[in-house]
Amino acid sequence: MKRILVTGGAGFIGSHLCERLLGDGHDVICLDNYFTGSKKNIVHLLDHPYFELVRHDVTQSFYAEVDEIYNLACPASPIHYQYNPIKTVKTSVMGAINMLGLAKRVRAKILQASTSEVYGDPSVHPQPESYWGNVNPVGKRSCYDEGKRCAETLFMDYHIQNKVKIKIVRIFNTYGPNMHPNDGRVVSNFIMQALRNEDITVYGDGSQTRSFQYVDDLVDALIRMMATPDKVTGPVNIGNPKEFTILELAEKIIALTGSGSKIIYQTLPEDDPVQRKPDITIARNLLDGWTPGIPLGEGLERTIAYFKNQLSE
Ligand code: NAD
Ligand code: UDP
Repeated sequence: MKRILVTGGAGFIGSHLCERLLGDGHDVICLDNYFTGSKKNIVHLLDHPYFELVRHDVTQSFYAEVDEIYNLACPASPIHYQYNPIKTVKTSVMGAINMLGLAKRVRAKILQASTSEVYGDPSVHPQPESYWGNVNPVGKRSCYDEGKRCAETLFMDYHIQNKVKIKIVRIFNTYGPNMHPNDGRVVSNFIMQALRNEDITVYGDGSQTRSFQYVDDLVDALIRMMATPDKVTGPVNIGNPKEFTILELAEKIIALTGSGSKIIYQTLPEDDPVQRKPDITIARNLLDGWTPGIPLGEGLERTIAYFKNQLSE
């Protein structure tokens, strides 16, 4: 049994990770400030004897004797990370410093939830880890993109300078149950709109692409990454390489929900990446046979069932 700290544990991905780690027999501390996460996501875990919940902000230092840290704390949806951009940078950068400081002090292994946004609006397609990216440093998405890039730098520097055992994963668009219904990201927006028979808001002409990964595939990869030998630091891309246009996603969700919604077109947000698809060769080789197993249709069905249930509560 390991004692494991999950920052951002009450969020979408964090809640699935806490559940899986408890299921694997570990002692889990879930830390969150509830900015975008919710107790609702982890309320079913509260009676578990090896689950502990801490209200805390990662921009402040934190101390606990732990063996492993998954550092997920950070708003991930563009509307939420742009709401208070300075706080977003603080969360990524000061959060990384505080959690790396803790890892150094207690000799814990630490994994950083980085993002495909470090590639910005990529001119290389699909994106391998060796691509340095195309990021606007002064745009609306910069607080998130540059915050995450700086966090990667800090992780690597703590590793080189202080021998901290680090793992960096670059997560590509992930979806599933426990996403907040008003999260603002495309999958939750489209499903909620379809279930309410409201217009489906496609930004731009819908020809921009994304590659969507179901959350269980990601959680499996995170755990495998943490278990890799110490010399494996990453960064490693984690995502499902099957690429869809946003218009295709809208049509798929309308079909799966049997909705009467119509598609409407709205202004494309600033610096919205035109294309995104991970090269996951490294993950496939490193993570002991890992490969994304849940196709979009199946993952969407499970996610639609979750949101239907939320609406009927
Ligand atoms: P989420 O918004 O549901 O979860 C983030 C969690 O972090 C929330 O519970 C939030 O309350 C918490 N948090 C935010 N700021 C905090 C702070 N200062 N102190 C403590 N807790 C704080 O988002 P998610 O999709 O679960 O993303 C989790 C992580 O994965 C994030 O770091 C995100 O950048 C990364 N990621 C997610 C995706 C994706 O597609 N979901 C893609 C790339 C990277
Ligand atoms: N998008 C959209 N309608 C929405 C929400 C998002 O067309 O209601 C588009 C958005 O412009 C982007 C893509 O869907 O091109 C993915 O957006 P999301 O916010 O989910 O994540 P991103 O990959 O941009 O960080």
